[in-house]
Parts: sequence; structure tokens; C-alpha cells
Amino acid sequence: MGAVLEICDLHAGVNGTPILKGVNLTVRQGEVHALMGPNGSGKSTLSFVLTGHPVYEVASGDILFNGESILDLEPDERSHLGLFMAFQYPVSIPGVTVANFLRTALNAHRKAKDPSDKGVSIPEFRRLMLDRMKFLQMDPSFAGRYLNDGFSGGEKKRAEILQMAVLQPKIAVMDETDSGLDIDAVRIVAEGVNKLVGPEMGVLVITHYQRILNYIPPQFVHVMYDGRIVESGGPELALKLEDEGYAPYEEKYGKVVTAP
Ligand code: ADP
Ligand code: MG
Repeated sequence: MGAVLEICDLHAGVNGTPILKGVNLTVRQGEVHALMGPNGSGKSTLSFVLTGHPVYEVASGDILFNGESILDLEPDERSHLGLFMAFQYPVSIPGVTVANFLRTALNAHRKAKDPSDKGVSIPEFRRLMLDRMKFLQMDPSFAGRYLNDGFSGGEKKRAEILQMAVLQPKIAVMDETDSGLDIDAVRIVAEGVNKLVGPEMGVLVITHYQRILNYIPPQFVHVMYDGRIVESGGPELALKLEDEGYAPYEEKYGKVVTAP
């Protein structure tokens, strides 16, 4: 049985202001889901709440991973279970190379599974990393760069995809992986994601625009509007959104006023 992420009637917000107003969504290992919606609909909030960002308060509902609530788990504990988050705006860590960062993350994962694990040796890690980089068609020199420090938008996303390839999460949530990228970078990043998606990994691709879905074809498409999933369907729903935009939802559910 593969891993399952279940979001059950989730209500969450910031400083008492509700943002998510009853989200229901199930993502299974091996499935590709797209979550679309206009700006301000709560997509990033959902990804922050899934990771356990302390600013966001869960008012009610639950998040289950393999049937067990993860609401009381710290972000690193959620990650050790096999839940991976790629953020819209990754932070840079000056002085830490991509390779060092990945090895530290991998060792933390191994130790969480087996407290007696002594960690991966440097040569063993290099082999693994170079193998994954080759698989993703990345230049090996990338591993020696300082994480996200002076990276282009595309390089930041590639660093996250490499992290995914090394950690091999069961379910990955990618928030606006295409934002700020030119079309070539979107294609390169999406091809990387596509290579990793398969029976071993499920993914929730969060996006405002349809274009990345040309490269990562989703099996399921959901529309978030004003903190709720208001429509779900197959790939045809993404194409409908590309044609019609979000105006029909505005008419139906009222215009959402976003905070400045
Ligand atoms: P999306 O990713 O769909 O554009 P967000 O989740 O970023 O939407 O935002 C949804 C709403 O919640 C917006 O009105 C936004 O201003 C508000 N919001 C999100 N995060 C915060 C925060 N940390 N503090 C205050 N308001 C927030
Ligand atoms: Mg967002």
C-alpha cells in the first residue's frame, strides 16, 4: 500500500483571520494532482499548513499521513515521514553548498528512520548525488555552489528537484514551481519533476497558470477559490481554466478581497 496524504475539512488562518475554509483533498503516492486558483485563494497557505509553518493556526479539521494526524508533528518530522515541500520562495543559505545541504538532509532522514544510523559516508553520498544529477541532466559543478545564493529562479527550482531526487519523498507538494521562470526553465524543471513522478512518488502541483501542466500532465485537477476546493476534475478542467480564467468562479462565489 502506498502512502496517502489526506486533508480533511481543514480550516486554518493567521492571527484569527480565516484563510482556509474547509479544504478536503486526498493525494496518494503515484498520483499527480494539480491545485489551481487565483492569487489570494489560499494555495500557498495550504502548503505552509501542510509543512507545519508556525505562523498558520489550524482551527479545525485534520491532516493525515497514512491515516495518522501530523498536526502535532514538527516540520522536520513531517519531512521524515516522506512529505516534501518545495516553496514558492526558497530561502538562501550562504556558506552551505548544495552538496552539504543535501547530505545533512539525507542523514537526518536516515537517522529518523533508524537512530543507530551513522550517516552516509562522503564517497557514498557523492556517488548517489552524482548519479541523481546525471539522471536529472544537471551539471556536476552545481553541487559545489552555495545553496540558493545568487541562484537564478530556475536554479533554485533545480536545487529543490535535486533535493527531491536525493530524499525520494513519497508525496511532494510544489508551490508555484513555475512562477518567475521563463518557458525554457519551466520545461527543464518540469522534466525533472516528471522523471521523479511515478509509482514511488505522488505530487501536488500548485499553480496559478496552466502552462506547467503541459509538461507535468495531472490526473486530477482541483480549483481553489476563497479557501475551498470548489471544483475537481480531470486534465480537461485545467484546459477549461486556461480558456475561461477564474471569472466564472468570481461570478458564482463573489470576488475575493485579498489583503494588501
Ligand atoms: P495564493 O497562494 O493562492 O495566492 P495565499 O495563501 O498566499 O494565496 O494567500 C491567501 C490569503 O491569505 C491572502 O489574502 C493573503 O493576503 C492572506 N495571507 C496569507 N499568508 C498570510 C500571512 N502570513 N499574514 C497575513 N495574511 C496572509
Ligand atoms: Mg501562492
